[in-house]
Amino acid sequence: MGKRKKSSRGPQGPRKKDPLPTKFTCLFCNHEEAVTVLLDKKGGVGQLDCSVCGQTFQCAINYLSAAVDVYGEWVDAADMVAKEADSRQDGPEPTSRAIRSRRTPEDDVDADDEE
Ligand SMILES: [Zn+2]
Repeated sequence: MGKRKKSSRGPQGPRKKDPLPTKFTCLFCNHEEAVTVLLDKKGGVGQLDCSVCGQTFQCAINYLSAAVDVYGEWVDAADMVAKEADSRQDGPEPTSRAIRSRRTPEDDVDADDEE
């Protein structure tokens, strides 16, 4: 019987390649697309900043670097800072929210030897 013409082809021609993303989610305030990356390939410097919380970061780039590479550097750097803060145990770190599951020894020991 009647054959239906399948028009599975969209009206669009060849897809345009999207430009590489230059906006990313901020690691600090978690706002999406708040972080803008600028690439200064002449100067060899990649820079990003968050328009919401004002965080900035710079790293060296080369002519092959893309915005996402700068963002990746930032993620790594922030990760390292977080790990450093985590491994440091000499004092409370205001930026790290370490979950303390250990019992504090002071709970059991009552200092009675103050005489
Ligand atoms: Zn931010």
